[in-house]
Amino acid sequence: MAQPLPPGPPFGGIVVRVSDEIRDRIRRTQRSTAAAGIDALLVSPGADLRYLTGYDAKPLERLTCLVLPADGDPVLIVPLLERSAAKAAAVEDLGLSIATWQETEDPYALTASHLRGMTSVAVDNHMWAEKVLQLRAALPDAEQVLAGPVLRELRMRKTPAEVHALRDAGAAIDRVHMRMGEWLRVGRTEREVGADIAGAIIDEGHVQVDFVIVGSGPHGASPHHEVSDRVIQAGETVVVDIGGTIAAGYCSDSTRNYVVGHHPPDDYAEYFAVLRAAQEAQCTYARPGVTAESVDAVGREMIAAAGFGAAFIHRTGHGIGMETHEDPYIVEGNDLVLEEGMAFSIEPGIYLEGRHGARIEDIVVCTADGAERLNDTPRDLVTLG
Ligand code: ZN
Ligand code: ZN
Repeated sequence: MAQPLPPGPPFGGIVVRVSDEIRDRIRRTQRSTAAAGIDALLVSPGADLRYLTGYDAKPLERLTCLVLPADGDPVLIVPLLERSAAKAAAVEDLGLSIATWQETEDPYALTASHLRGMTSVAVDNHMWAEKVLQLRAALPDAEQVLAGPVLRELRMRKTPAEVHALRDAGAAIDRVHMRMGEWLRVGRTEREVGADIAGAIIDEGHVQVDFVIVGSGPHGASPHHEVSDRVIQAGETVVVDIGGTIAAGYCSDSTRNYVVGHHPPDDYAEYFAVLRAAQEAQCTYARPGVTAESVDAVGREMIAAAGFGAAFIHRTGHGIGMETHEDPYIVEGNDLVLEEGMAFSIEPGIYLEGRHGARIEDIVVCTADGAERLNDTPRDLVTLG
């Protein structure tokens, strides 16, 4: 599990008081909640709660819930046995009060007692259904809506402190890719290589391994293949897509392509060059003022023009922050205009089912007039041993 945010500076490599940063998030969220005509947000353990309080609470069957009224003081409902964990996360420094419930008490009635007279409450998008329904029963006069539309507007616009944290995460995963030759060799299984990579994800500065994809040969044509007992052969290309979470709570995600022991298959080089050029063009194109879908289109048109359009079977990318996948999504149909501080992946892929595939992935963050790449290891096919 990731650790709670450390109290006070430094935050993600620059000096920002964590409590000031989070207090500001709470204020901005309250303003947006009021503007949306919602009386209060109800936020259970997960990235939204961590974003708003710094508290990385365990997702348990017992109710932990932030009650954040549009107007008024926030209250964190916690089971008595979790009180010391909440206090250790310094939530009281934010001006939050903690309301505890004991094992035989009804936490939903306790929550409702902080919401008297309210007619519209928003629950976080990932709240467990059993909690949503219990809250509905405890608040029969309140309409339930999703908190996502309010929170995504804040979470997808990263502050300078958040960008620094994402930069740290990017550097950490780059250090893992730079060490790939230590582990990725002919005769080893994807699972063996993946276990070594997972260890290095922690060693190089993450507190949690989020995923490890080692797609050798034909497995490279399955974008979300993880690992298997398949033995890696000479001349096979391998898609390695890896990510973790650093102590500040921010995620990394980067894909590179390797070939081991021999040159790659003849038909690989042609489409890899197309992919490489498309990803480069997308990274150069992305900037404030263009739409998310236009970033997708720039690469997709190049790949289609080369005859591989049907082999690019997913969107170009996803936002990233306290979750690996969050807004904004870089996909056809998303006419969101990009802004400074938005961070997302650019990861086109070409997949030839049953043969091999490739994907190149960088995290980028929009600057005032362009996009900064947060990953910087070689993007060309890397030949190992
Ligand atoms: Zn990835
Ligand atoms: Zn990704």
